[in-house]
Amino acid sequence: MTPTIDPDRLWQSIMAIAAIGPTPDGGSCRLALTPQDAAARTLFRQWCAPLDLHFEQDAIGNMFLRREGTDPAAGAVAFGSHLDTVPTGGRFDGVFGVLAGLEVLRALHDKGWRTRTPLELVNWTNEEGSRYRPAMMGSRVFAGDMELETALAITDDAGVSVAQALKDSGQAGPLTPSQRGWACWLEAHIEQGPVLEATATDIGIVTETMHARYFQLTIIGEPSHVGPTAMDRRRDSLAAAAETILAVERVALAAEPNGRASATWIENYPNARGNVSNITRLHCDVRHNRPDRTIAMEAALREALAGIAARRQLRIDIDPYASFGPVVFDTALGALLRRKAEDRQLSTCDMIAAAGHDSVLIAKLCPSAMLFVPSVDGITHNPKEYSTKEQVARGAQVLLDAVMELAA
Ligand SMILES: [Zn+2]
Repeated sequence: MTPTIDPDRLWQSIMAIAAIGPTPDGGSCRLALTPQDAAARTLFRQWCAPLDLHFEQDAIGNMFLRREGTDPAAGAVAFGSHLDTVPTGGRFDGVFGVLAGLEVLRALHDKGWRTRTPLELVNWTNEEGSRYRPAMMGSRVFAGDMELETALAITDDAGVSVAQALKDSGQAGPLTPSQRGWACWLEAHIEQGPVLEATATDIGIVTETMHARYFQLTIIGEPSHVGPTAMDRRRDSLAAAAETILAVERVALAAEPNGRASATWIENYPNARGNVSNITRLHCDVRHNRPDRTIAMEAALREALAGIAARRQLRIDIDPYASFGPVVFDTALGALLRRKAEDRQLSTCDMIAAAGHDSVLIAKLCPSAMLFVPSVDGITHNPKEYSTKEQVARGAQVLLDAVMELAA
Protein backbone atom coordinates (compact mmCIF):
# COMPACT_ATOMS: atom_id res chain seq x y z
CA MET A 1 0.00 0.00 0.00
CA THR A 2 1.17 3.52 -0.83
CA PRO A 3 2.39 5.42 2.20
CA THR A 4 0.06 8.11 3.52
CA ILE A 5 0.63 10.53 6.32
CA ASP A 6 -1.13 10.12 9.66
CA PRO A 7 -2.92 13.41 10.47
CA ASP A 8 -3.30 12.59 14.17
CA ARG A 9 0.35 11.70 14.62
CA LEU A 10 1.45 14.86 12.81
CA TRP A 11 -0.88 17.00 14.92
CA GLN A 12 0.21 15.43 18.19
CA SER A 13 3.84 15.99 17.26
CA ILE A 14 3.23 19.67 16.50
CA MET A 15 1.44 20.09 19.83
CA ALA A 16 4.20 18.26 21.72
CA ILE A 17 6.89 20.58 20.35
CA ALA A 18 4.64 23.60 21.07
CA ALA A 19 4.60 22.56 24.73
CA ILE A 20 8.35 23.19 24.92
CA GLY A 21 8.90 26.83 25.79
CA PRO A 22 5.20 27.51 26.24
CA THR A 23 3.96 31.08 26.64
CA PRO A 24 0.98 31.84 28.90
CA ASP A 25 -1.22 32.74 25.95
CA GLY A 26 -0.83 29.41 24.15
CA GLY A 27 2.17 30.13 21.96
CA SER A 28 5.81 29.08 22.10
CA CYS A 29 9.08 30.84 22.80
CA ARG A 30 12.13 28.87 21.67
CA LEU A 31 14.79 31.36 20.74
CA ALA A 32 17.69 29.79 18.86
CA LEU A 33 20.14 27.73 20.91
CA THR A 34 18.39 28.32 24.24
CA PRO A 35 17.59 25.38 26.55
CA GLN A 36 14.06 25.39 25.06
CA ASP A 37 15.39 25.09 21.51
CA ALA A 38 17.74 22.32 22.66
CA ALA A 39 14.86 20.45 24.34
CA ALA A 40 12.79 20.59 21.15
CA ARG A 41 15.77 19.26 19.19
CA THR A 42 16.21 16.42 21.68
CA LEU A 43 12.56 15.37 21.38
CA PHE A 44 12.81 15.57 17.59
CA ARG A 45 15.84 13.26 17.65
CA GLN A 46 14.05 10.83 19.94
CA TRP A 47 11.24 10.61 17.41
CA CYS A 48 13.78 9.97 14.66
CA ALA A 49 15.53 7.17 16.58
CA PRO A 50 13.25 4.27 15.53
CA LEU A 51 13.30 5.30 11.85
CA ASP A 52 16.77 4.00 10.89
CA LEU A 53 18.16 7.42 10.13
CA HIS A 54 21.77 8.52 10.20
CA PHE A 55 22.19 11.70 12.25
CA GLU A 56 24.79 14.33 11.49
CA GLN A 57 25.23 17.85 12.78
CA ASP A 58 27.39 20.67 11.55
CA ALA A 59 29.31 23.33 13.43
CA ILE A 60 26.48 25.87 13.23
CA GLY A 61 24.08 23.32 14.74
CA ASN A 62 22.13 22.37 11.60
CA MET A 63 20.70 18.86 12.03
CA PHE A 64 20.59 16.32 9.18
CA LEU A 65 18.64 13.05 9.43
CA ARG A 66 19.49 10.82 6.50
CA ARG A 67 17.52 7.84 5.24
CA GLU A 68 19.52 5.78 2.76
CA GLY A 69 18.08 4.86 -0.64
CA THR A 70 18.79 1.88 -2.86
CA ASP A 71 21.20 3.89 -5.03
CA PRO A 72 24.09 5.05 -2.83
CA ALA A 73 25.46 7.27 -5.60
CA ALA A 74 22.26 9.33 -5.97
CA GLY A 75 21.95 12.83 -4.55
CA ALA A 76 19.47 13.12 -1.70
CA VAL A 77 16.02 14.63 -1.87
CA ALA A 78 16.14 17.01 1.11
CA PHE A 79 13.39 18.78 3.02
CA GLY A 80 12.74 20.44 6.38
CA SER A 81 12.53 23.84 8.05
CA HIS A 82 13.26 25.18 11.57
CA LEU A 83 12.24 24.51 15.18
CA ASP A 84 13.24 27.89 16.64
CA THR A 85 10.64 30.62 17.15
CA VAL A 86 10.39 34.36 17.75
CA PRO A 87 9.65 35.52 21.35
CA THR A 88 5.91 35.71 20.56
CA GLY A 89 5.99 32.52 18.51
CA GLY A 90 3.05 30.42 17.46
CA ARG A 91 2.98 26.64 17.16
CA PHE A 92 3.37 26.22 13.40
CA ASP A 93 5.95 28.56 11.87
CA GLY A 94 8.91 26.35 10.93
CA VAL A 95 7.79 23.53 13.21
CA PHE A 96 5.24 22.42 10.63
CA GLY A 97 7.95 22.02 7.97
CA VAL A 98 10.23 19.95 10.18
CA LEU A 99 7.44 17.73 11.48
CA ALA A 100 5.79 17.35 8.07
CA GLY A 101 9.21 16.06 6.99
CA LEU A 102 9.32 13.75 9.99
CA GLU A 103 5.83 12.50 9.11
CA VAL A 104 7.06 11.79 5.55
CA LEU A 105 9.83 9.59 6.98
CA ARG A 106 7.46 7.94 9.46
CA ALA A 107 4.95 7.14 6.69
CA LEU A 108 7.66 5.58 4.53
CA HIS A 109 9.00 3.64 7.51
CA ASP A 110 5.51 2.35 8.41
CA LYS A 111 5.23 0.71 5.00
CA GLY A 112 8.86 -0.32 4.71
CA TRP A 113 8.96 1.76 1.53
CA ARG A 114 12.40 2.09 -0.07
CA THR A 115 13.27 5.04 -2.27
CA ARG A 116 16.02 5.05 -4.86
CA THR A 117 17.67 8.25 -3.69
CA PRO A 118 18.55 8.99 -0.08
CA LEU A 119 16.28 11.38 1.83
CA GLU A 120 17.50 14.04 4.24
CA LEU A 121 15.37 15.82 6.81
CA VAL A 122 16.86 19.08 8.09
CA ASN A 123 16.34 21.37 11.08
CA TRP A 124 18.11 24.66 10.37
CA THR A 125 19.63 26.70 13.20
CA ASN A 126 18.36 30.21 14.02
CA GLU A 127 16.02 30.77 11.12
CA GLU A 128 14.17 33.51 12.96
CA GLY A 129 17.10 35.76 13.78
CA SER A 130 15.42 37.00 16.97
CA ARG A 131 18.28 36.19 19.31
CA TYR A 132 21.11 36.42 16.78
CA ARG A 133 21.04 38.46 13.62
CA PRO A 134 20.92 37.81 10.74
CA ALA A 135 17.93 35.55 10.21
CA MET A 136 18.38 32.23 8.35
CA MET A 137 21.80 31.95 9.96
CA GLY A 138 22.19 28.16 9.74
CA SER A 139 21.16 27.91 6.10
CA ARG A 140 23.13 31.07 5.31
CA VAL A 141 26.37 29.54 6.59
CA PHE A 142 25.52 26.20 4.96
CA ALA A 143 25.00 27.93 1.60
CA GLY A 144 28.30 29.81 1.87
CA ASP A 145 26.54 33.16 2.14
CA MET A 146 28.24 33.84 5.49
CA GLU A 147 31.53 32.60 6.93
CA LEU A 148 31.21 30.15 9.80
CA GLU A 149 33.71 32.13 11.89
CA THR A 150 31.71 35.33 11.35
CA ALA A 151 28.51 33.64 12.50
CA LEU A 152 30.15 32.03 15.55
CA ALA A 153 31.40 35.42 16.77
CA ILE A 154 27.97 37.13 16.66
CA THR A 155 26.60 37.92 20.12
CA ASP A 156 23.08 38.25 21.50
CA ASP A 157 21.87 41.21 23.58
CA ALA A 158 23.40 39.61 26.70
CA GLY A 159 26.82 39.28 25.04
CA VAL A 160 26.66 35.49 24.59
CA SER A 161 28.26 34.42 21.31
CA VAL A 162 26.76 31.94 18.88
CA ALA A 163 29.80 29.72 19.53
CA GLN A 164 29.11 29.76 23.27
CA ALA A 165 25.39 29.14 22.81
CA LEU A 166 26.12 26.19 20.49
CA LYS A 167 28.43 24.74 23.13
CA ASP A 168 26.08 25.39 26.06
CA SER A 169 23.11 23.85 24.25
CA GLY A 170 25.11 20.85 23.03
CA GLN A 171 24.46 21.71 19.39
CA ALA A 172 27.99 22.27 18.04
CA GLY A 173 28.37 19.40 15.59
CA PRO A 174 31.63 18.18 14.03
CA LEU A 175 30.79 18.80 10.36
CA THR A 176 31.99 21.84 8.47
CA PRO A 177 28.83 23.45 7.12
CA SER A 178 28.80 22.87 3.38
CA GLN A 179 26.53 21.52 0.70
CA ARG A 180 25.75 17.83 0.77
CA GLY A 181 25.19 17.05 -2.90
CA TRP A 182 21.43 17.25 -2.71
CA ALA A 183 19.38 16.62 -5.85
CA CYS A 184 16.73 19.08 -4.69
CA TRP A 185 15.19 20.79 -1.67
CA LEU A 186 11.55 21.18 -0.57
CA GLU A 187 10.14 23.18 2.35
CA ALA A 188 6.58 23.03 3.63
CA HIS A 189 5.56 26.08 5.66
CA ILE A 190 2.49 27.92 6.88
CA GLU A 191 1.55 30.87 4.68
CA GLN A 192 1.77 33.47 7.48
CA GLY A 193 -0.62 35.62 5.45
CA PRO A 194 -4.33 35.76 4.54
CA VAL A 195 -4.41 34.81 0.85
CA LEU A 196 -5.02 31.04 0.96
CA GLU A 197 -7.79 31.37 3.51
CA ALA A 198 -9.45 34.28 1.72
CA THR A 199 -9.47 32.41 -1.59
CA ALA A 200 -10.35 29.03 -0.01
CA THR A 201 -7.21 27.50 -1.50
CA ASP A 202 -5.65 24.38 0.02
CA ILE A 203 -2.02 24.64 -1.08
CA GLY A 204 0.08 27.65 -2.11
CA ILE A 205 2.88 27.01 -4.57
CA VAL A 206 5.61 29.54 -3.78
CA THR A 207 7.09 30.66 -7.06
CA GLU A 208 9.33 33.44 -5.75
CA THR A 209 10.23 35.49 -2.70
CA MET A 210 10.44 39.16 -2.01
CA HIS A 211 13.74 41.01 -1.98
CA ALA A 212 14.59 42.22 1.53
CA ARG A 213 17.34 44.37 2.95
CA TYR A 214 18.12 44.54 6.69
CA PHE A 215 19.64 47.58 8.38
CA GLN A 216 21.05 48.43 11.76
CA LEU A 217 20.62 52.17 12.36
CA THR A 218 22.71 53.96 14.97
CA ILE A 219 21.58 57.44 15.94
CA ILE A 220 24.30 59.41 17.71
CA GLY A 221 23.43 62.61 19.55
CA GLU A 222 24.74 64.25 22.70
CA PRO A 223 23.94 63.35 26.33
CA SER A 224 22.49 66.14 28.43
CA HIS A 225 20.26 66.96 31.39
CA VAL A 226 16.51 66.85 30.76
CA GLY A 227 15.94 69.96 32.88
CA PRO A 228 18.39 72.72 32.14
CA THR A 229 19.09 71.81 28.51
CA ALA A 230 17.05 74.15 26.32
CA MET A 231 14.91 72.38 23.74
CA ASP A 232 16.75 73.95 20.80
CA ARG A 233 20.13 72.78 22.15
CA ARG A 234 19.32 69.09 22.48
CA ARG A 235 20.59 66.37 20.22
CA ASP A 236 18.18 63.74 21.44
CA SER A 237 18.76 60.34 19.81
CA LEU A 238 15.57 58.83 21.21
CA ALA A 239 13.37 61.60 19.80
CA ALA A 240 15.16 61.16 16.47
CA ALA A 241 14.47 57.42 16.72
CA ALA A 242 10.75 58.14 17.06
CA GLU A 243 10.85 60.11 13.82
CA THR A 244 12.95 57.41 12.20
CA ILE A 245 10.49 54.66 13.07
CA LEU A 246 7.66 56.62 11.48
CA ALA A 247 9.82 57.34 8.43
CA VAL A 248 10.39 53.59 7.99
CA GLU A 249 6.66 53.03 8.10
CA ARG A 250 5.98 55.82 5.59
CA VAL A 251 8.44 54.27 3.13
CA ALA A 252 6.36 51.08 3.11
CA LEU A 253 3.02 52.88 2.96
CA ALA A 254 4.25 54.67 -0.15
CA ALA A 255 5.20 51.34 -1.74
CA GLU A 256 1.94 49.47 -1.22
CA PRO A 257 0.60 46.95 -2.02
CA ASN A 258 3.81 44.90 -2.19
CA GLY A 259 6.17 47.11 -0.18
CA ARG A 260 6.92 46.28 3.45
CA ALA A 261 9.16 48.04 5.97
CA SER A 262 9.37 47.74 9.73
CA ALA A 263 11.46 49.00 12.61
CA THR A 264 11.49 46.10 15.05
CA TRP A 265 14.16 46.47 17.69
CA ILE A 266 15.49 49.33 19.78
CA GLU A 267 18.39 49.83 22.18
CA ASN A 268 18.79 53.14 23.94
CA TYR A 269 21.68 54.77 25.89
CA PRO A 270 22.04 55.74 28.58
CA ASN A 271 18.34 54.83 28.94
CA ALA A 272 18.33 56.76 32.18
CA ARG A 273 15.58 58.86 33.67
CA GLY A 274 16.83 62.42 33.79
CA ASN A 275 19.04 62.03 30.71
CA VAL A 276 18.47 63.14 27.17
CA SER A 277 19.46 60.00 25.26
CA ASN A 278 22.53 60.16 23.07
CA ILE A 279 22.78 56.78 21.35
CA THR A 280 19.79 54.84 20.02
CA ARG A 281 20.08 51.78 17.85
CA LEU A 282 17.26 50.49 15.69
CA HIS A 283 16.81 47.50 13.49
CA CYS A 284 14.70 47.79 10.36
CA ASP A 285 14.15 46.17 7.01
CA VAL A 286 12.60 47.07 3.67
CA ARG A 287 11.22 44.53 1.21
CA HIS A 288 9.35 44.32 -2.07
CA ASN A 289 8.91 41.60 -4.66
CA ARG A 290 10.56 43.85 -7.26
CA PRO A 291 14.23 44.51 -6.49
CA ASP A 292 14.18 47.91 -8.23
CA ARG A 293 11.40 48.93 -5.83
CA THR A 294 13.35 47.65 -2.82
CA ILE A 295 16.29 49.79 -3.91
CA ALA A 296 13.97 52.78 -4.38
CA MET A 297 12.52 52.21 -0.89
CA GLU A 298 16.02 52.13 0.57
CA ALA A 299 16.86 55.38 -1.23
CA ALA A 300 13.70 57.02 0.15
CA LEU A 301 14.59 55.83 3.63
CA ARG A 302 18.15 57.16 3.37
CA GLU A 303 16.82 60.54 2.22
CA ALA A 304 14.37 60.70 5.13
CA LEU A 305 17.09 59.79 7.62
CA ALA A 306 19.45 62.39 6.19
CA GLY A 307 16.71 64.98 6.71
CA ILE A 308 16.12 63.94 10.32
CA ALA A 309 19.86 63.95 11.06
CA ALA A 310 20.39 67.39 9.52
CA ARG A 311 17.42 68.99 11.25
CA ARG A 312 18.31 67.52 14.63
CA GLN A 313 22.06 67.96 14.19
CA LEU A 314 22.98 64.40 14.98
CA ARG A 315 24.39 61.46 13.07
CA ILE A 316 22.52 58.43 11.76
CA ASP A 317 24.77 55.57 10.67
CA ILE A 318 23.18 53.02 8.36
CA ASP A 319 24.62 49.51 8.34
CA PRO A 320 23.00 47.30 5.67
CA TYR A 321 24.17 44.06 7.25
CA ALA A 322 22.13 41.40 5.44
CA SER A 323 19.68 40.80 2.66
CA PHE A 324 17.82 37.99 0.98
CA GLY A 325 16.21 37.35 -2.35
CA PRO A 326 14.71 37.90 -4.69
CA VAL A 327 14.63 34.19 -5.42
CA VAL A 328 12.70 32.49 -8.17
CA PHE A 329 12.08 28.89 -7.18
CA ASP A 330 12.49 25.95 -9.53
CA THR A 331 9.55 25.86 -11.94
CA ALA A 332 9.67 22.09 -12.49
CA LEU A 333 9.54 21.45 -8.74
CA GLY A 334 6.70 23.96 -8.42
CA ALA A 335 4.82 22.17 -11.20
CA LEU A 336 5.39 18.84 -9.44
CA LEU A 337 3.96 20.18 -6.16
CA ARG A 338 0.96 21.58 -8.04
CA ARG A 339 0.34 18.27 -9.82
CA LYS A 340 0.66 16.30 -6.57
CA ALA A 341 -1.86 18.62 -4.90
CA GLU A 342 -4.28 18.31 -7.82
CA ASP A 343 -3.93 14.51 -7.74
CA ARG A 344 -5.33 14.75 -4.21
CA GLN A 345 -8.19 17.00 -5.39
CA LEU A 346 -6.62 19.96 -3.59
CA SER A 347 -6.86 23.50 -4.97
CA THR A 348 -3.64 25.47 -5.54
CA CYS A 349 -2.47 28.95 -6.39
CA ASP A 350 0.91 30.53 -7.07
CA MET A 351 2.29 32.80 -4.37
CA ILE A 352 5.13 35.18 -3.58
CA ALA A 353 6.66 34.67 -0.12
CA ALA A 354 7.01 37.94 1.76
CA ALA A 355 8.89 36.36 4.67
CA GLY A 356 12.44 35.08 4.60
CA HIS A 357 12.86 31.31 4.62
CA ASP A 358 15.79 28.91 4.65
CA SER A 359 14.76 27.91 1.13
CA VAL A 360 15.94 31.32 -0.07
CA LEU A 361 19.50 30.27 0.75
CA ILE A 362 19.22 26.64 -0.31
CA ALA A 363 17.90 27.72 -3.72
CA LYS A 364 21.47 28.88 -4.42
CA LEU A 365 22.68 25.28 -4.11
CA CYS A 366 20.10 23.08 -5.78
CA PRO A 367 16.63 23.20 -7.36
CA SER A 368 14.29 24.27 -4.56
CA ALA A 369 10.60 24.89 -3.97
CA MET A 370 8.17 25.67 -1.17
CA LEU A 371 4.55 24.91 -0.47
CA PHE A 372 2.29 26.87 1.88
CA VAL A 373 -0.73 25.74 3.88
CA PRO A 374 -3.33 28.28 5.05
CA SER A 375 -2.89 30.36 8.20
CA VAL A 376 -6.17 31.09 9.97
CA ASP A 377 -6.79 34.88 9.74
CA GLY A 378 -3.29 35.20 8.29
CA ILE A 379 -1.92 35.60 11.83
CA THR A 380 1.70 34.65 12.51
CA HIS A 381 4.54 35.35 14.96
CA ASN A 382 1.69 35.39 17.44
CA PRO A 383 0.32 32.78 19.87
CA LYS A 384 -2.92 32.88 17.85
CA GLU A 385 -1.07 31.49 14.82
CA TYR A 386 -3.14 28.51 13.68
CA SER A 387 -3.70 26.04 10.89
CA THR A 388 -6.17 23.19 11.21
CA LYS A 389 -5.25 19.53 11.53
CA GLU A 390 -6.68 18.96 8.05
CA GLN A 391 -4.73 21.85 6.54
CA VAL A 392 -1.36 20.70 7.87
CA ALA A 393 -2.16 17.09 6.95
CA ARG A 394 -2.87 18.11 3.35
CA GLY A 395 0.42 19.97 3.12
CA ALA A 396 2.35 17.03 4.56
CA GLN A 397 0.65 14.62 2.15
CA VAL A 398 1.60 16.75 -0.86
CA LEU A 399 5.16 16.86 0.47
CA LEU A 400 5.21 13.06 0.83
CA ASP A 401 3.77 12.51 -2.65
CA ALA A 402 6.33 14.88 -4.18
CA VAL A 403 9.24 13.32 -2.26
CA MET A 404 8.21 9.82 -3.36
CA GLU A 405 8.19 10.84 -7.01
CA LEU A 406 11.47 12.73 -6.79
CA ALA A 407 13.19 9.91 -4.93
CA ALA A 408 11.80 7.04 -7.03
ZN1 LIG B 1 9.49 30.04 9.42
